[in-house]
Amino acid sequence: MDGMIFDIQHFSIHDGPGIRTTVFFKGCNLRCLWCHNPESQERAPQLLIKELGCIACGSCAAVCPTGARRLGKGGSFIPELCTGCGKCASVCYPGVLEISGKTMTVSQVMEEILKDVSLYRHSGGGVTFSGGEAMLQINFLEELLRECAGSGIHTAVDTAGSVPWEHFRRILPYTSLFLYDLKCADGELHQRVTGADNRLIAENLKRLKDTADVWVRIPCIRGINDSSAEKEGFRELLRKPGRIQRIDLLPYHSFGEGKYRLLGRPAPDFLPMDAVQMEELKKALEEYVPVYHSLDQ
Ligand code: SF4
Ligand code: SF4
Repeated sequence: MDGMIFDIQHFSIHDGPGIRTTVFFKGCNLRCLWCHNPESQERAPQLLIKELGCIACGSCAAVCPTGARRLGKGGSFIPELCTGCGKCASVCYPGVLEISGKTMTVSQVMEEILKDVSLYRHSGGGVTFSGGEAMLQINFLEELLRECAGSGIHTAVDTAGSVPWEHFRRILPYTSLFLYDLKCADGELHQRVTGADNRLIAENLKRLKDTADVWVRIPCIRGINDSSAEKEGFRELLRKPGRIQRIDLLPYHSFGEGKYRLLGRPAPDFLPMDAVQMEELKKALEEYVPVYHSLDQ
């Protein structure tokens, strides 16, 4: 069995307890305006192009089977013609071109995960499956989780929750922890800034928090979810926490801007909530569950 992965990060410390390996699945069914992993959104492999470094050797254009990559200083590129085959990247000597996303088998991913087993044991860590939306590749995810659980590795699944409950049901036996991302409480706002309805997300959280250990994560973005109405909406959603163990408030950061440039897309222009707003949201929610935030994240 195989799946589409765009990154595997070792020594991760922000995706659950302890030191972890985070496996990033490619493909997402949300389109959050502030997304800091824009290369995660499309399921298919994508060509990333650096702005500097091209020596105009023409090798990419010579091997491109579709005419997507053309000759010229810096090379021109027609995204609509690109199949993500990666032939151009494999001949680009200065490394200007790179493919994001590759098909990996369960054994290949497990090989990466198993490299750090002793670190997981010593730090109380494990593996986190993130994305994109890892649960869109449910068969692949289930198989990986089963393998990890069989090896005694702590498993976390990072999800935005916009998938059928059946997906959760399938992986519950092998998942130690869910990292559940809540973007906005208001339905109309959620639809406008993520492109998706949030009713399913709220319903799934309601069931999940009574069934599994959950850490809720809220991206904190000025002008998006910093209103009093949003604060009250989050309070309502989290009022009966069940097995929600903690809430992490994640200030917006602009680390993903460079990736937008590599994809030839305009970068989003947002700011994090300020310290006062973060503190107010923390106070509003910690009545129910411990809340953590760091403006450095
Ligand atoms: S990834 Fe393939 S199709 Fe796309 S530009 Fe490169 S060689 Fe052409
Ligand atoms: S192969 Fe790389 S260096 Fe050569 S023209 Fe293409 S992008 Fe530029």
